[in-house]
Formats: sequence, C-alpha cells, structure tokens
Amino acid sequence: MKLISNITKMQEISEARALEKKRIGFVPTMGYLHQGHLQLVEKSVADNEITVASVFVNPTQFGPEEDYDEYPRDLDRDLDLLQERGVDYVLYPDVEDVYPEGFATYVQVEKGTDVLCGRSRPNHFKGVTTVVSKLFNMVKPHRAYFGQKDGQQLLIIRRMVQDLNMDIEVVACPTVREEDGLALSSRNKYLSPEEREAALIIYNTLQKTRERIEEGERDGWALKKAMEEAIKAEPLANLDYASIVSRDYLQELSRIEGPIMIAIAAFIGSTRLIDNVWLEVE
Ligand code: AMP
Repeated sequence: MKLISNITKMQEISEARALEKKRIGFVPTMGYLHQGHLQLVEKSVADNEITVASVFVNPTQFGPEEDYDEYPRDLDRDLDLLQERGVDYVLYPDVEDVYPEGFATYVQVEKGTDVLCGRSRPNHFKGVTTVVSKLFNMVKPHRAYFGQKDGQQLLIIRRMVQDLNMDIEVVACPTVREEDGLALSSRNKYLSPEEREAALIIYNTLQKTRERIEEGERDGWALKKAMEEAIKAEPLANLDYASIVSRDYLQELSRIEGPIMIAIAAFIGSTRLIDNVWLEVE
C-alpha cells in the first residue's frame, strides 16, 4: 500500500493503472475509520483491481461553529486498517494543496441541499460536492463507494454525478450498526456512557416509524409528529429534524408513498448524530 500526498502523483498513478485496463474503486473518507468505512473498502477491494481510499478532513463542509479542529484524527491507525484490507493507495492530501490561495470554484447541487442537514448546516453540501468532485478528478475512479448512513449526501452525490455526466458508478452500501442498532460514526467517540444509552432513541424512533408504515400508516405529518415527540421525550436529546422525504428531490411527504427516506438528526449532549432508513412504499 502506498501513501500519496501529492495530487499530481495520484493523477499519474490513476492514469497509468487505467491504461493497464485496471478498474479503480474509490472510497472517500474523513478518516478515524470504523467498520462502516471498512465495509466500503472491502466492497471496493472485492469489486475492483485497484482500490484507492482517501483520508481528508474537508474544511469547506464544516460550518464556523462546527467541530473541524476537534474532528477525531488517527492516521497511523487508519493506515493499518486500510493495509489489512488490501487497499492499494491512500490519498492524503494537504489542505493547502486542495484549497490553494486563490481557490474560487465550487460545485453546488441545487435541489435537496437546503433541507434536512442542509437547513442547519447551510454550506455543508456545497463543501461535500466540491471536495468529492475534486477527489474524483484526482483519483479518476470507475466506481465510488458511499454509505447509506449519510443518506442525503449519497442522494446528492448521485444527482451531481448524473447531472455533470461524470463517468463514475456510485455504489451505495448499507449502514453498519452496533449490536443495539446505533449507527457507527466517528463522532460516537464523543458520547459519555449516559449519552451513548440516550443515542439509541434515534435508531429506535426510526424503527418504530418504519413499523408503523409497514402496518399501513400513510399520514406523513402524524408520523413526523410522533417522531418529534419521541426524541423530545429523551432528556439528553435535542432534536434537529425528524422527517420523511421522497428519495428523488428529498421533499417532505404529507402522504407516504414511493421510495422514501425516514431521517433524524439530533444532538445527544453536544454531539450531533444522524441516521436514516430507506423504504419502498406501495
Ligand atoms: P466520513 O468519514 O464520515 O465522511 O464517511 C466516509 C464514508 O463512510 C461515507 O460514504 C459515509 O456514508 C460512510 N459511512 C460512515 N459511517 C457509516 C456507517 N455506519 N455505515 C455505512 N457507511 C458509513
């Protein structure tokens, strides 16, 4: 496995591998890896001759009051985990090289980015689509792997790839959870033992909502209200949003129908957690 910080070098390697007719799978991450990330890596290694993973904590997707500086980092541990899984290259660029002085170009998807997480994190998805576009141009992958855990991000990236004719297959991978259901997240490490218990309210509420839909409930507002009340009843939780949206343009649904996403974001103590489930409703 090779660690590459130089962007031009990464591009040269990718071009050379593509000329050898090797398929390149790419897993973008912000590091501090857990089994959620590693599942994407394992799938890429199984599906492609070459796998590139990136570790880059992207400043443009963090708001001014958010945890960019404190975001957990442990490159040595990440490299061991990636090497064990058979990754070929790890792209680890410097922030100054990704965003050099004079940088002035952003990629923005114009639908579905101002709702859910986009409402409380106004420039977040602009930062995500910009850095993912840039990483795609550095790695030139045939396939790119994203987790359903960040459901809105995945849908927005799919939209971007389609709208900008990027010749890349976006592969969605299911959310990896702890045994009790809590979605794995690099931010779970911030939780105290009491908060870790309380965090389960997010998954339990999603599951309860899924059950009610499966039992025939179709009233979107009634389901939303029940989700809001369930989260508010947990003293350590502070609701950001609970919402049921269509999976095309992430519009909130008054009547539950079609491919949907049930999504919740809540602060548990001072840690913001998100989770979602996808359903196909007849
Ligand atoms: P991050 O490092 O948080 O930017 O995540 C990098 C990639 O890993 C994204 O595609 C995430 O959706 C994915 N990911 C993070 N946590 C999980 C999880 N628990 N299950 C599946 N994928 C995940």
